Amino acid sequence: MVEGKINEIHGWAAMKPGLKVEPWSYKPRPLGEHDVEIKIEYSGICGSDLHTIKEEWSGTMYPAIVGHEIVGKVITKGEKVTHLKEGDLVGVGAQVYGCLESSCKACSRDLDPHCPDSVFTYNSKYADGAQAHGGYADAVRVDASYAFKIPETIDPVYAPPLMCAGATVFAPMLRKGVKKGDRVGVIGIGGLGHLAIQYASALGAEVVAFSHSPNKRDQCIELGATTFVNTANQEEVDAIRGTLQYLFVTSNSNASEYKKLISWMHFEGQIILLALPEGDMNMSPVEFVISEVAITGSLIAGVNVLKKTLEFSAKHNILPIIEKFPMSRVNEALERVDSGKARYRVVLINDE
Ligand SMILES: [Zn+2]
Ligand SMILES: [Zn+2]
Repeated sequence: MVEGKINEIHGWAAMKPGLKVEPWSYKPRPLGEHDVEIKIEYSGICGSDLHTIKEEWSGTMYPAIVGHEIVGKVITKGEKVTHLKEGDLVGVGAQVYGCLESSCKACSRDLDPHCPDSVFTYNSKYADGAQAHGGYADAVRVDASYAFKIPETIDPVYAPPLMCAGATVFAPMLRKGVKKGDRVGVIGIGGLGHLAIQYASALGAEVVAFSHSPNKRDQCIELGATTFVNTANQEEVDAIRGTLQYLFVTSNSNASEYKKLISWMHFEGQIILLALPEGDMNMSPVEFVISEVAITGSLIAGVNVLKKTLEFSAKHNILPIIEKFPMSRVNEALERVDSGKARYRVVLINDE
C-alpha cells in the first residue's frame, strides 16, 4: 500500500455552532488504492459551508472542516489510480465518493449525489466510519474519481467556484436540455446566479436576469444577459410575463412567491430550485393544470457533469468573479460572505 506524504492535516475547523473556525488538525484516513492525496492551494467558500458551521441544517459533526470547492496538486496517488499523476492540478467539489456502478439507479443516470453510498466532502462519514473533512486545510485525501483535472486554460485561482457553484447551475441546464433560442430566467445575481447567466448564455439561450438590486444591471448584461429585470419595477416584470422556458432560482426566495413565478413562465416551462425557499408554497394544485408549468429542483453535479462543466467553462471562457483572501483570514472572509457583500464568490488562498 502506498503511504500518504502528510501524516497530519492542518486546517480551520468549526468547533461549535457559530460563524467561527479555528486551527485544528486531524489524522487523514489511510490512502486507499483508488485515492489521491491533494495539497490544497485554493478553497472557495460556499453558502453551504456557512449553513453547516452555524448548524442551520441539522446535525453538524464538530469539529468540522468545511469547504467543498477545492483546488490543489496531487502529491500521492493510490496504486490503482490511472487517470491522474503526481503534480496534476485537480479540483474537488461537494462529493468525494459514490459507487459509480452501472447497476446504481442514481450513478447510472449521472445523479451520483443521490447514490445511497455517497459521501459528501464534509460533515459526512465514509463507510469505515471516518469523518470527511473539507478544503479549509492544507491537504485532503479523496477517491480519485472525484478529483477532476483542471483544464490548463483556466487560471487555477478561478477554478474553485466552478467545482460547486458552477457545476450546480450547469448540471440542470444540461439535464433539462437548455438550448439555443430558449428564454431562460435567472433569479438572484450572486455566487450561483452570476455563473448561471454565463452558462445559459454560452448554451445560446436568451437570458433574463432578475434582481432587486438595479445596480447589478450593467454587470448582468456584461455577463451575457440580454434583459435585466428589476423585480421592484412592475412594468419591467409585466413585460416578461408568460415568456420563459426555464427559470433558475438561485436565491433564497420566499416560497409564497411561486404563484407569481409561474406567471412569468411560458406553457410547459420549468422552474428549477437551486436554493432552498423558506416557508410554504400555499398554492392550489390547479395552478399547475392551468399553467402546465413544472417546479423542480437540482442538487449538486455528478462525476460526468463535473467533467463537462470544466470542459465547457474552459471552452467558453466562463469564470467566476471572485474576491481573494489568504487562508489565515478565513474568519474575516466568512463574515464577508455572511454579510452578502462578497462579489460574488470568495476564494481562500493557502499562505505558502
Ligand atoms: Zn456548495
Ligand atoms: Zn451509486
